[in-house]
Amino acid sequence: MSAKGRVKCPKKQLPCLHGQMIIRVLDERSDPGPLPLGFGALPGNSGESKELEEAAAVLARADDDSGLCPTLEDIADMETRIIQIKPDCREWKLQEEAALREAGEVIRQGGLVAFPTETVYGLGGDALNPQASCKIYAAKGRPSDNPLIIHICQFEDIYRIVKQVPETAVKIAEAFWPGPLTVILPKAELVPYETTGGLDTVAVRFPSHPVAKKLIEYGGGYVAAPSANASGRPSPTLAKHVAEDMSGRIDMIVDGGEVGIGLESTIVDLTAEVPRILRPGYITQGMLNKVFGKVDIDVTIIKPDSGQPPKAPGMKYRHYAPTGRLVIVEGEAGQVTAYINEQTAKDRNAGEKTGVIGTAEVLEQYHADVVKCVGSRENEEDIARNLFTVLREFDEEKVTSIYSESFSSEGLGQAIMNRLLKAAGHSVIRL
Ligand code: AMP
Ligand code: MG
Repeated sequence: MSAKGRVKCPKKQLPCLHGQMIIRVLDERSDPGPLPLGFGALPGNSGESKELEEAAAVLARADDDSGLCPTLEDIADMETRIIQIKPDCREWKLQEEAALREAGEVIRQGGLVAFPTETVYGLGGDALNPQASCKIYAAKGRPSDNPLIIHICQFEDIYRIVKQVPETAVKIAEAFWPGPLTVILPKAELVPYETTGGLDTVAVRFPSHPVAKKLIEYGGGYVAAPSANASGRPSPTLAKHVAEDMSGRIDMIVDGGEVGIGLESTIVDLTAEVPRILRPGYITQGMLNKVFGKVDIDVTIIKPDSGQPPKAPGMKYRHYAPTGRLVIVEGEAGQVTAYINEQTAKDRNAGEKTGVIGTAEVLEQYHADVVKCVGSRENEEDIARNLFTVLREFDEEKVTSIYSESFSSEGLGQAIMNRLLKAAGHSVIRL
């Protein structure tokens, strides 16, 4: 953007306009160089200060488009290459190494590559390149205040991107890294605000998936990678899901088969003395309690109706939702199946295509048009792995009315119910 497009503003982060990219503003003390792609100040609907309006006026006068955020039209219609890599690195040959090196180079050059991790597929871009982060937001249609997680491939790399590594971070890394756990810490200057959604903290994860680790290494060591779905849709657990949402919007998809866990990482805020879970995941509260004696949990996870904003900005958005209406039914098993059968019969008479998310133990009792098995109650890991796939399948089959059984909120069930409740927009029938 040209110099005259630069603006000064009293705040670091301003509200976004029409779900467009974030707006970071310049710090009076430093010269940040040219404004990165996607960044400028707009007044939003905040009724903010006069400086803000002036900032908007300056931008409105800017005589070129280069400072505007890339919209979907800007990045759509690109050719998305798909490459296959076996998930087990012991089976890799030179060919796999070369392909991953090439994918890493795409990231180094500012491009976007989707890749498997042990949780879900991620949409990777260079976390230290503001323009790459902006492209991620555009490709996903992600709200601009929903920050990205930076993925690293060795523990030591955390030191460059956080201000300080507290004892709690070392402890958590020793216990769970590489693995499905993300920590929040104060960010170092090196990390652009474009990557942190304007926050002064940064989310960091060291994944264990061999493809992810290699790609991060070849991609320069710091890869911002939110889940590789279009914003609002279920996170991808297969490369095919990524292709559904991202074809034509990103450079490459690395197909490494089905992911192992199927739910996104546990997020733990380490900025306070007592670690706090901001998003439940495969690493459960019980597992964290064992390491720390005690961890807190964001109140909005236990009480979604608390009226407080969640500390992880992304947790406030509706997520994972299938196109059809989804209702969770809670109660004793026999009552639940009977109620769901009653409702699906009614809905079918009203012209709906009906669906059920059920468990293996009672699956045969359902009479809906489409009955999906999410796994057995004996095996919560299976339920976690299947949940997003099942939600997507209802869209493929154009189901308009869906009922789901409910699950325990203990252990891994806490993460499963957290995602299911979001997918249902918290619509629950208690029998
Ligand atoms: P995804 O990458 O799609 O799994 O989403 C990342 C999640 O991490 C979102 O819910 C974000 O709000 C959350 N997150 C990322 N950075 C931070 C941060 N600095 N503080 C709090 N939450 C964060
Ligand atoms: Mg996501």
